Amino acid sequence: KGERLRLPPWLKTEIPIGKNYNRLKNTLRNLNLHTVCEEARCPNIGECWGGGEYATATATIMLMGDTCTRGCRFCSVKTARKPPPLDPDEPYNTAKAIAAWGLDYVVLTSVDRDDIADGGAEHFAKTVSNLKERNSQILVECLTPDFRGDLTAVEKIALSGLDVYAHNVETVRELQRHVRDPRANFDQSLSVLKHAKKVKPTVLTKTSIMLGLGETDQQIRDTLTELREAGVDCLTLGQYMQPTKRHLKVEEYVTPERFAHWEKVGNDMGFVYTASGPLVRSSYKAGEKLYIAHTP
Ligand code: SF4
Ligand code: SF4
Repeated sequence: KGERLRLPPWLKTEIPIGKNYNRLKNTLRNLNLHTVCEEARCPNIGECWGGGEYATATATIMLMGDTCTRGCRFCSVKTARKPPPLDPDEPYNTAKAIAAWGLDYVVLTSVDRDDIADGGAEHFAKTVSNLKERNSQILVECLTPDFRGDLTAVEKIALSGLDVYAHNVETVRELQRHVRDPRANFDQSLSVLKHAKKVKPTVLTKTSIMLGLGETDQQIRDTLTELREAGVDCLTLGQYMQPTKRHLKVEEYVTPERFAHWEKVGNDMGFVYTASGPLVRSSYKAGEKLYIAHTP
């Protein structure tokens, strides 16, 4: 304890760049879109934008600004009690830009906005409906906050025309208080996922867990079981990386073999797909994963 762990070799390797990458990179410039991929310097950008073998390009767009009303101990997004107001034109402008960009799969996500009455649910929903109007082919995933358990907000988004409803439980049940803002908890997150599925059964639900925060194998297994029992369809598992010294320390660098083990466990439990690997992030190659899962 006390010492920082050294970065293992599997986190230093180069990541391939797919065929679409340059095309997307070049057209992005004039569109005024804020991608998490670029802003978080995500190491998967070559693969996600490039689309890999199946050329299904995925990117993640951030809505509702860059300032969060919460402060999770693993997250480097800046925090304020009262961030700037929402831009009322964002749902229209963002949808227009995404439609023009040429993606196959888009993840719309946001900071938590506990300062707004509906947490920004209407804003999310409008972005989806505007986008689907312009491009009915594009697959849309919303990765949403928990809306403090406000199921009306969840419902608004679930019925907006999206394809995948994602909300991250982030870590095993036992470590929720240690890792997430105190306003978040496991059962509240589970209720969000369950409600999305209940009001729109054809929507796929999805969640993500970070490993390396000190969780035990049994806790991981139990958490996966609970998620499956709650009807969650898709699962991603990735390595937690400490963003700055002020954030939670990495307790363990989980080996690629262990990640492969959890992928198998997830598949055996019956998730539509499980993406598990050291560099996997919630939105990692989401388009390609879904394409493969649905191709016999
Ligand atoms: Fe973008 Fe997510 Fe892929 Fe990273 S994992 S490049 S944030 S879509
Ligand atoms: Fe970061 Fe989301 Fe937590 Fe806000 S709610 S601090 S954006 S993880």
